[in-house]
Amino acid sequence: ISVTVLAGGVGGARLAHGFALAQPGAAPTCVVNVGDDTVRHGLHVSPDLDTVMYTLAGLNDEERGWGLTGESYAVLDRLARLGEDTWFTLGDKDLATHVVRTARLREGVPLSEVTASLAAALGVAARLLPVTDDPVRTLVRTPSGTLAFQEYFVRRQHADAVLGLTFDGVDAARPAPGVLDAVTGTDLLVVAPSNPFLSVEPVLATPGVRDAVRSTRARRVAVSPIVGGRAVKGPAAQILETLGHDVSALGVARLYAGLVDVMVIDDADAALAGPITDLGFDVVVTDTIMGGPAGRERLARELLGLASAP
Ligand code: GDP
Ligand code: CA
Repeated sequence: ISVTVLAGGVGGARLAHGFALAQPGAAPTCVVNVGDDTVRHGLHVSPDLDTVMYTLAGLNDEERGWGLTGESYAVLDRLARLGEDTWFTLGDKDLATHVVRTARLREGVPLSEVTASLAAALGVAARLLPVTDDPVRTLVRTPSGTLAFQEYFVRRQHADAVLGLTFDGVDAARPAPGVLDAVTGTDLLVVAPSNPFLSVEPVLATPGVRDAVRSTRARRVAVSPIVGGRAVKGPAAQILETLGHDVSALGVARLYAGLVDVMVIDDADAALAGPITDLGFDVVVTDTIMGGPAGRERLARELLGLASAP
């Protein structure tokens, strides 16, 4: 069964890893957000692509959630010593990824090709596609003004209320080669339990992608990142609240109504199955917490079962 996952970082990476484990011979295609991309110390950093890539390579630091295992920070210490702002933590090994990516981009190689060669070098079988090769940058409107995404997320630790989001450059962005075909030509299209506003929306907002999701013949399945009224991690719950949505799997379902066929919600949210069904979804209630590889694979297998369901 061919699978395409629309993904941000951690939520997308965990589920994509599940599919890779569940079908070793049929690795998933991941269409990944680039709105979080940033330049640090002159280097192009793609946090969501790297989280997916490192997780699928078995190299992600699972305790921290991002970056490589067994990191050291000698370069960051030196950068600080030389007067650089080092609030964005970059490990020594991780920096090698950003050096290579930046070098290739400067030679004029598109991000999608750079990503494919980095993933291949790390032994990742899955196809990793940035949603676009063009620059798209998420800007966050807060009571303290408009912040660049990493300023909001990392430097200020997503403490500011989010009043609105802009994906700078998205209107002119073209989907990267293969993205639209990956959405329309798959058996199962999965919206990962990624942040709906920060990760999924910039993917859908890339011209052509939302229409491809609407017109695909694939079964479309979304997994709620909100479990028991809280985000498993990160600011999804706060953002639902400040933007006036229900802070629940029902609030998430409303965002995907008309775009997705099946909402997958956690056992903790079984009571919301009725109201979500009323929105026109098929609803699956299951354990959606993907701690380790076993939990990821289990959830992925359950989703694969939906591809052929009537
Ligand atoms: P980021 O880019 O690293 O912030 O990651 P994503 O946007 O891909 O995913 C963040 C979202 O994933 C958060 O809203 C979490 O609630 C959700 N999430 C993370 N792990 C899990 C999990 O095991 N199960 C579910 N249902 N959601 C998860
Ligand atoms: Ca992210």
